[in-house]
Amino acid sequence: MSNRKLIIAGNWKMNKTPAEASSFIKELKPLIKRSRNEVVCAVPFVDIQTSITAARGSRIKIAAQNMHFEEKGAYTGEVSGQMLKSMGVTYVIIGHSERREYFAETNRTVNKKVIAAYKCGLKPIICVGESLAQREAGLTAEHIRYQVKAALVGVTADQVKKAVIAYEPIWAIGTGRTATAEQAQEVCHIIRMTIKELYSKRVSSVVRIQYGGSVKADNAHELFSMEDIDGGLVGGASLKLSEFAAITAG
Ligand code: PEP
Repeated sequence: MSNRKLIIAGNWKMNKTPAEASSFIKELKPLIKRSRNEVVCAVPFVDIQTSITAARGSRIKIAAQNMHFEEKGAYTGEVSGQMLKSMGVTYVIIGHSERREYFAETNRTVNKKVIAAYKCGLKPIICVGESLAQREAGLTAEHIRYQVKAALVGVTADQVKKAVIAYEPIWAIGTGRTATAEQAQEVCHIIRMTIKELYSKRVSSVVRIQYGGSVKADNAHELFSMEDIDGGLVGGASLKLSEFAAITAG
């Protein structure tokens, strides 16, 4: 058993209005009171203000689901890390596979966003994961190692200690098909060994690695009990109060 604190983050994606976000978080607060884990809600930009207000007096931290890598300027529709930090955001998801697939996010932009997040004091939750075709072709390890290395170019050892890496096999996201605990552990171990290779054993033992992909209350605890899995990034199930509360329990 490691002494890393588990981090359970709900990725709401494009769901919930500010009013819905506020009441969800207010109802979640008493349900997670006894949890020893770190609980994060990654909410849409427009929900950040009400979510932060609603979360006051609890341990729930608020994350953004994306950010731009520039500090400011003519980037219509974008939001900077500085803007998020000034609102009280703690974490920011970077490189989710939906952003890579639908919004042309690349390893290069992921790296630029990671660097920009650290610059303004945000902690990145960096997503990596293979497609089904890559898994079936035996390319999972190579692909994951490449994505991790690309995301961390120019990141110092002190910075990376504050990172969370989310292993999210694309074939498991929103499909109801969860990786087995052994499959998830195998890849999370590869991620930790990649960090060890890039930095040191000590640094790799501090970085938290989540599993994401159809996590639910009935599979979460087996996944989170694995040696290199330090919590989860939860999509669909994070929108349901009792389900999310049960996932965060422990
Ligand atoms: C996600 O979007 O990060 C995710 C893991 O989704 P789901 O839990 O719905 O598979």
